[in-house]
Amino acid sequence: MSYTTSQATTPAAGSAATTLSSVDADAASSDGGGPLTGNLYFLADVLLLGAAALFFLFVLPRAVTRLTRLSAWSEGLFLRSGSRRGYTQSVGSQSSKEGEVFDYSERSYAARRHTPQRRVNYANGHPARSLTTVTDDDDSYGGFVTDRVHRSPPAHMPAWSTIFPGVNARLGATLRPGHSIGRVLVLLGYAVLMFFVGLEGGNPFVDYVPAGWVGVSQLPVAFLLGTKNNLLGVLLGKGYEKLNFLHRFVGRFVFLAVNVHSLGYLYQWNIEGTLSRNLVPNIIWGFVALICADILFFFSLQTVREVLYPLFYFSHVLAAVIILPATALHESSTTPYVVASLALYLFDRLLRLAQTRFTHAHLRAIPTLGTVQLSIPTLNAGWRAGQHVRLKVLSTRMGWWGWAESHPFTIASCANGEGEGLVLLCKSTGRWGERLMELARRAEYCEAGGGMPRVRVLVDGPFGGPGHAVIASYSAALLVAGGSGISYPLAIVEELLRDASCGASRVRLIGLVWSVQDVSSLDPLLPHFTRLLRVARDTGTHLRISLFHTRATDSYNVKLSPAARFVREGLTVRAGRPPLASLLSSVVDRALEVHKASDAWTPRAGEARESSSPSGVFVGACGPRALGEDVEKVVRLFGAREEHTRSVGGVECQVEVFGW
Ligand SMILES: Cc1cc2nc3c(=O)[nH]c(=O)nc-3n(C[C@H](O)[C@H](O)[C@H](O)COP(=O)(O)OP(=O)(O)OC[C@H]3O[C@@H](n4cnc5c(N)ncnc54)[C@H](O)[C@@H]3O)c2cc1C
Repeated sequence: MSYTTSQATTPAAGSAATTLSSVDADAASSDGGGPLTGNLYFLADVLLLGAAALFFLFVLPRAVTRLTRLSAWSEGLFLRSGSRRGYTQSVGSQSSKEGEVFDYSERSYAARRHTPQRRVNYANGHPARSLTTVTDDDDSYGGFVTDRVHRSPPAHMPAWSTIFPGVNARLGATLRPGHSIGRVLVLLGYAVLMFFVGLEGGNPFVDYVPAGWVGVSQLPVAFLLGTKNNLLGVLLGKGYEKLNFLHRFVGRFVFLAVNVHSLGYLYQWNIEGTLSRNLVPNIIWGFVALICADILFFFSLQTVREVLYPLFYFSHVLAAVIILPATALHESSTTPYVVASLALYLFDRLLRLAQTRFTHAHLRAIPTLGTVQLSIPTLNAGWRAGQHVRLKVLSTRMGWWGWAESHPFTIASCANGEGEGLVLLCKSTGRWGERLMELARRAEYCEAGGGMPRVRVLVDGPFGGPGHAVIASYSAALLVAGGSGISYPLAIVEELLRDASCGASRVRLIGLVWSVQDVSSLDPLLPHFTRLLRVARDTGTHLRISLFHTRATDSYNVKLSPAARFVREGLTVRAGRPPLASLLSSVVDRALEVHKASDAWTPRAGEARESSSPSGVFVGACGPRALGEDVEKVVRLFGAREEHTRSVGGVECQVEVFGW
């Protein structure tokens, strides 16, 4: 950026005082382009766009395969209230009260065991309004879709990691937590480009203009990568949280460049004694932009994010909004970059406005899990398993700022499911979570007394998720969860069973592995697990749920509740950490066996025979970062055994971590 008001006299200062328009003019005259196209910094952005396009070309076949199904176009964009046609379920596995339909509580389990089983049809998705008894010989798939609309399973397109497992194993190797070789290469490539354009423009110690331009030219890139509805993420099939490492890296370059640019001038004017003379309006706006860049950097350091997340969040939004006009007022020729950044930001805000739902939610405390179950019966469609939403609980009991804080939570139920609506399992880890737990207890108390049974919430999303991967297109799935990460596999298992019930899934085998520190965590989920196991049996899907009690050393000493001991088939409880490598091996072997068995099966009239080769194993993990990295490592090492991996159609991995 230039300072047209500068009265510099030294050669160094002279070059520093080069105006932006003259930089453009020089560049333009040398290559014959327009003022912007001739700009080195603009060309750097074009190069970055080219790199993004190249990545997109790699994922294009998968994207096209997914979008060949019409329903895929509307999935995972807007939460809505969909029609529930003919889902069935057993009375007793659900509470008859509105909002208790996804009931994990021990109370519900006890009630269910003492309630005679009969099937009910939720024709309009509301048990109270639409209860019609149906008989056991209805064509229901153990509690799922009964509308007899048989769909074909989705086509499968393997990822590049399956086609080139060796390359994937090398690029995926981690150098340090959170940094794979592939990721480091991307960051290195970006850094080299930035240093090249920064230094090509001139010596940053004597010419401060190029640094300013580097900062300005990277503003749209930082905005693009920082928005929730990230266009690049949509194209690449990656949620904003997966691209966040790039947003941070680009942000650091903006910070560095803006500081080199501004501090250079400050130093120079200080030596010349011209500081006060230079403090004209456009320079003051430059300082405003500098302060914003510094706030964006310092208040987003990991320590601040961990200790004072609201400070990070609000300062980040405010500084990001102010830096744009401040930059344009500082130097008018930066306007194209400012407008591009603003357009990306407004696009995201407007889309988020359209995605935001203001509704009521039911709260239920689950003390054994240290979790609050929040269910929104009015929203029951529009997301994909694995996606998350951002939640605001609009109650003054959440504290002075608590009601305005937006927290991300993975959706624990499947869309168009059994009438539970959107369910979140929110662990109380900090102040906000504890207040939510208090509110849940209070809500239950009021509910019991006929008082306030619900809270108002703002739900924003859905975001993230499996991207271009279609989980139902694999032959088998291994889902690994740690602690509160259980939301993620719950939604996936339910979605796979829902799809299996109408022939829209290839998944024949599902392994759900859950690590917990306390074995009593199982009890609240037991009714739900039991129901999933029953539905899996009815839909011909092999579901095995394995609970690992990480604090126990001997499986014989794991003390199960009487209710848990009652469930035998499909559920195992063991001591220690899950042996991920052998679990994956056994899922792969079983997938091959199951596939061979289904090959020998003769289809009935109207039923299609499946393809003769298995379509891979999907491995999903959710929980602490260390668990995610363990899973990734196991999959990578497994991938190195190319023959074995190829025989099952590949093993592909997706990890969700509760943080960034
Ligand atoms: C994509 C994603 C999905 C998640 N899904 C779940 C889930 O299904 N169930 C679950 O129990 N937890 C989930 N989490 C974690 C959950 O969002 C945090 O535990 C919660 O926001 C903590 O808030 P707190 O103030 O109670 O705790 P604190 O102790 O104040 O915060 C704990 C940590 O959470 C982070 N954090 C705090 N506030 C926010 C915020 N507003 N936005 C983002 N991060 C924040 C901070 O970095 C901090 O280190 C998810 C997180 C992410 C990023």
